[in-house]
Amino acid sequence: MTNLTREETEALIAEVLEIYPEKAKKDRAKHLTVNDQSIEQSKKCITSNRKSLPGVMTVRGCAYAGSKGVVWGPIKDMIHISHGPVGCGQYSRAGRRNYYVGTTGINTFGTMNFTSDFQEKDIVFGGDKKLAKIMNEIEGLFPLAKGISVQSECPIGLIGDDIEAVSKKASKELNKPVVPVRCEGFRGVSQSLGHHIANDAIRDWVLDKRDGDNSFVGTPYDVSIIGDYNIGGDAWSSRTLLEEMGLRVVSQWSGDGTLAEMELTPKVKLNLLHCYRSMNYISRHMEEKYGIPWVEYNFFGPTKIAESLRKIAGYFDDTIKEGAERVIERYKAQYDAVIAKYRPRLEGKRVMLYVGGLRPRHVIGAYEDLGMEVVGTGYEFAHNDDYDRTIKDMGNATLIYDDVTGYEFEEFVKKVKPDLIGAGIKEKYIFQKMGIPFRQMHSWDYSGPYHGYDGFAIFARDMDMTLNNPCWGKMKAPWIKDEAAPAIAAAA
Ligand code: SF4
Repeated sequence: MTNLTREETEALIAEVLEIYPEKAKKDRAKHLTVNDQSIEQSKKCITSNRKSLPGVMTVRGCAYAGSKGVVWGPIKDMIHISHGPVGCGQYSRAGRRNYYVGTTGINTFGTMNFTSDFQEKDIVFGGDKKLAKIMNEIEGLFPLAKGISVQSECPIGLIGDDIEAVSKKASKELNKPVVPVRCEGFRGVSQSLGHHIANDAIRDWVLDKRDGDNSFVGTPYDVSIIGDYNIGGDAWSSRTLLEEMGLRVVSQWSGDGTLAEMELTPKVKLNLLHCYRSMNYISRHMEEKYGIPWVEYNFFGPTKIAESLRKIAGYFDDTIKEGAERVIERYKAQYDAVIAKYRPRLEGKRVMLYVGGLRPRHVIGAYEDLGMEVVGTGYEFAHNDDYDRTIKDMGNATLIYDDVTGYEFEEFVKKVKPDLIGAGIKEKYIFQKMGIPFRQMHSWDYSGPYHGYDGFAIFARDMDMTLNNPCWGKMKAPWIKDEAAPAIAAAA
């Protein structure tokens, strides 16, 4: 199918909704729309951040996943206890590819799994004593850890354990920060509330630690990278560009980040916010309390990188403005060569996305740099302010889906027939079995980085390698029967 008109996309949504009972149809209809760039506020066209419908296949995560898996987990020199049963911690460990520098088990702990491994007796008698004991064991085994966070799983909130009291006591005894995070999975409608809770815990237990301490020697060019989790080295690619333009990156939140960097962040001049969804809360807090402005940026693809470098430079003097131009010029030959090589192989190809955080809108420019078009996009856990930004980035008449169900996504794909799908691990094998090229866009399918100019070269290579792989023409979905088979069966 070629590009759909607005009317055709509307008809497609109506057709897909038809299978639902009346009440479910009414609810899901609010989450599916056709883009219209003239609309100023997305709440007029799409509903988001509402509970998923029981019985439909959502791919959302829980609040614990948002806090431990996204915000706190990558802080490398702290130990993050998954407090509760073993499973939540195991499934949130090592999946996100938050790269870091350090010696694991000595001064960095990002890929290690710490859990209080709740059993029935802990549910009956409470887990406070166990938590205190674990913290002492951690101190004995890993004395170089700079702090501990307690990431609550569901049972902790249900049985009412006082993790705040245990943490305060342990903090005094161990003489290091111990942060309780009330991110029990059942809170809120998705991992999104976990991000907010995690930000609030940083605000309350970390950020004010150096208030009134003026020993840090600042420069006029101090910035922090906020909301980059260093997936496959993303923050490193971004940091290179910022430093080359003359800025000093004081802290990275939270990929390859440290507790000390977080404590120093209130001293910077500007917060650079990449993942708006997960860290707009703490950026707003720093603006209110410390007067630090923040600016969103997008380091996917040369067009958006150049726009963002200039936008960031706009907050500084001519030294940095010239630095931004120098960086854009320095990498021009590199990104032009990437485009020259891959654009002829990707031109005109159509992409459907379904991811979380910032990616459903931020990667659109990178695809466009390669001559590709995003014809459908949606978020797992966005709020309306994410869609406000998305409707301006997407072409008119493209399909937008919020918290799309497995059924809806498959039906949309069957009708739109994209050349490539970018979504998560839960969707990957379904669409690959359907014979559709697929990239896992949460952790870059074991590749990356995708941020910055270095990342763009890898992004372009990966899209080409996936889309133009000859395997797709040689496979057939296992559920599509051989047309000759029924006749043979009948003859037998
Ligand atoms: S919802 Fe609760 S039990 Fe499930 S993974 Fe999240 S914290 Fe664990």
